[in-house]
Amino acid sequence: MLATVAAGALLLTSCAGNTTPGSTDGGEGSGDGGLIGVAMPTKSSERWIQDGDAVKAALEGQGYTVDLQYAEDDIPTQVSQIENMITKGAEALIVASIDGTTLSEVLQTAADSEIPVIAYDRLIKGTENVDYYATFDNFLVGQQQAWTVLNGLGLTELDGTAKADAPAGPFNIELFAGSLDDNNAFFFWDGAMDVLQPLIDDGTLVVKSGQTTIEQAATLRWDGETAQSRMEDILTANYSDGSQVDAVLSPYDGISRGIISALTDAGYSVGDEWPIISGQDAEVDSVKAILSGEQYATIFKDTRELAKVAADMAVAALNGEEPEVNDTETYDNDVKVVPSYLLAPVQVVKDNVESALVDTGYWTAEELGL
Ligand code: BGC
Repeated sequence: MLATVAAGALLLTSCAGNTTPGSTDGGEGSGDGGLIGVAMPTKSSERWIQDGDAVKAALEGQGYTVDLQYAEDDIPTQVSQIENMITKGAEALIVASIDGTTLSEVLQTAADSEIPVIAYDRLIKGTENVDYYATFDNFLVGQQQAWTVLNGLGLTELDGTAKADAPAGPFNIELFAGSLDDNNAFFFWDGAMDVLQPLIDDGTLVVKSGQTTIEQAATLRWDGETAQSRMEDILTANYSDGSQVDAVLSPYDGISRGIISALTDAGYSVGDEWPIISGQDAEVDSVKAILSGEQYATIFKDTRELAKVAADMAVAALNGEEPEVNDTETYDNDVKVVPSYLLAPVQVVKDNVESALVDTGYWTAEELGL
């Protein structure tokens, strides 16, 4: 505790020394430290709001001023927000990209001014000008999603261990992936298919639509309505013969909500015939859907932890120190392997909503309607 306070005081002193006139915009921050730019993709998903707030609080707690911007999933908007942060004198950038391949030019400008760049949750690709990456174990997220699906079908435990009394199947499953401009989508998909492919190969799981590639399963910008209309098309084309969908692999809660709407519109109702649906992010509406039985599971990624890691990385990097990393092999951005810190994701099903999300203070019982 004392060590933390002392380190904080040191940082305060050193960054106060670094501050140049005009480097703080005065509007948002609280400390005397320099400005740090935080670029988030969109406010349309709850998790990024949680992330933005948590990063801002973590940096302000260390005396920095924060310019936090959301780009509403518009790439040129995000690029110009980052340009503005550089113009305003940002000493470090924390960026959760919309499209991980579109930031090379603006990050060259950052590099020319020796501004360290932290990729936040999503890898920034195709540039050497990204210094560190803070994220979760994204392959494990995909595996965990698949395990929740198998668990819901009665085939395995939540950790993927086979159940002795498992039903033989076959089960009809449909597959959804995230946005192909987000590197995470591939990790989630690869992790999930690592688990599901053997069961598709041995006939336990049947993908009636035949749509089994990530390109076929992808959902541009992780958009729930796009997922809803793809699910509607799949139901019409493949399940009008009276057959039922038993499970849907979904990589994100917003996509799950679109899938749920399509199923409801097609006449499915919660009960025996209702499919097992996965998710990610523990968004409030989706946790409520887990409690009501519409969604089987989500993956909880504690944005408070991620924010802390990213904020510490930015502060260390701008002070010329080496941030703590725990993975220097996995995240190749096509130009270099970006040193990363991976946090552990947590599966949430009805049984552990309270212990995973309420007891940890992530959501209140009231917010979840408990
Ligand atoms: C994040 C997920 C999120 C998705 C959609 C991904 O990059 O890792 O947590 O569900 O984007 O916002």
